[in-house]
Amino acid sequence: MKKLIFEKSSTDRSSFDFPSFKEKNTLPKKFLRDSLSSIGLPQLSELEVIRHYVELASTNFNIEKGLYPLGSCTMKYNPKINDEMAALPAFASVHPYAPQDLVQGSLELMVHVEKWLCELSGMDAVTLMPAAGAQGEFTGLKLIRAYHKDKGIQKTKILIPDSAHGTNPASSALCGYDVVKVSSNEKGILDPKAIAQLLDSSVAGIMITNPNTLGLFEENIAEIAKLMHQHDALVYCDGANFNALMGQAKIAEMGIDVLQFNLHKTFSTPHGGGGPGAGPVGVKEKLIPYLPFPRVIYKDNSYSLLKSNPKSIGRVKGFYGNFGVLVRAYTYMRALGGDGLTKATQMAVLNANYIKQRLREAYDLAYDDKPCMHEVILSDKKQLKYHIKTLDIAKRLMDYGFHPPTVYFPLIVSGALMIEPTETESKEEVDRFCEAMISIAKECEVSPETVQQAPHTSPVRRVDEVKAARNLILTYKR
Ligand SMILES: *Cc1c(COP(=O)(O)O)cnc(C)c1O
Repeated sequence: MKKLIFEKSSTDRSSFDFPSFKEKNTLPKKFLRDSLSSIGLPQLSELEVIRHYVELASTNFNIEKGLYPLGSCTMKYNPKINDEMAALPAFASVHPYAPQDLVQGSLELMVHVEKWLCELSGMDAVTLMPAAGAQGEFTGLKLIRAYHKDKGIQKTKILIPDSAHGTNPASSALCGYDVVKVSSNEKGILDPKAIAQLLDSSVAGIMITNPNTLGLFEENIAEIAKLMHQHDALVYCDGANFNALMGQAKIAEMGIDVLQFNLHKTFSTPHGGGGPGAGPVGVKEKLIPYLPFPRVIYKDNSYSLLKSNPKSIGRVKGFYGNFGVLVRAYTYMRALGGDGLTKATQMAVLNANYIKQRLREAYDLAYDDKPCMHEVILSDKKQLKYHIKTLDIAKRLMDYGFHPPTVYFPLIVSGALMIEPTETESKEEVDRFCEAMISIAKECEVSPETVQQAPHTSPVRRVDEVKAARNLILTYKR
């Protein structure tokens, strides 16, 4: 068991000392502490502090250590140049209230990010304000509501497929809509007939994750969009998986009215652990009046902020969005260019299909009707006869030096292992992963207990995951 920094503390050392508080300070004496140690901070030398945190950091898994195939999360390598650009003093220290004529470059960058996203998707306008994919969803749904309200219509329902991302029903409920579930067909995609049966005047729209969480392209999307529009309902596309479409498909032409991007996934900024992110929302012409403000506009040779708009849904975040993430995404787009982004998509899809082919004998393929997109879903069906479940396989992968994939999601596949290799992995690394998976499948037959008791190499073995989330211990008590 590793020691906490508090347990390593010793009263005879410190890395830093304030001058004696009482002598130097003019505050009344009763407000002053005797010394820092009285507030309970751990006391260690500078070297001990560094060793402590280096040890913690090296215990953690990260993309720089190896493949991180967490499905739907797009844990790809983020080029360091993106961070360097975001750290340029002219970007990093710009103040949100700086006069507009002093921040023309920053405003111009935002307009360029919007233009790139419009070009890649075919949407007519984009707001950069939402700070995450889920907040983009919420913003998009508010836009749909504002659109209907403006026409004087009250609609109460949003259709959501069972293969959608989990945030979709949550965002709809948060926006005050009733969620109506749509089942996907035996091929894992949406059937327009199933949707037609659910449509009536109370349906405000549908939220389609495309490619869906089974890693499959919703090929009936244009037909579905037509049906929705016939009922004066709008089509929202969760575009977090845009690394399967970028440069290949103009999604707007499939009848999409609202689309959110996850810049922190597709456009390569470090994420995980809850942030930072950016979830810009693209819209068709008819929804532009409702976009949040401020919006950056270009007029008379300069950039400025449009501060209000009568039909706008208002602000969804302070200031203008997560600007640092926008700088990183812009750097990534410019570094790759249109051709590079297209190639990234092709590599993401190729890597996932390569894994699908290499693992098809060892593992059950939940849907095998056609090639997958950027991720592939396996299940533990073939391993259950050895009493081995998805969780065991995921834990065993840690012993082989990989981050486990997303497990037990999507819910429509029992014992799902959702694998997204991303485009930044070489064939050699993908092969190393496949060989580990094949080796684990063999272990299930010959020595199942090795897999059932995994991980063997991590500092902590199996943790009680429910307890870990419900019984957080956030303070150290002596
Ligand atoms: C990651 C993801 C989201 C949520 O994005 P956050 O930035 O984590 O809020 C929504 N939909 C899909 C398909 C995703 O992969």
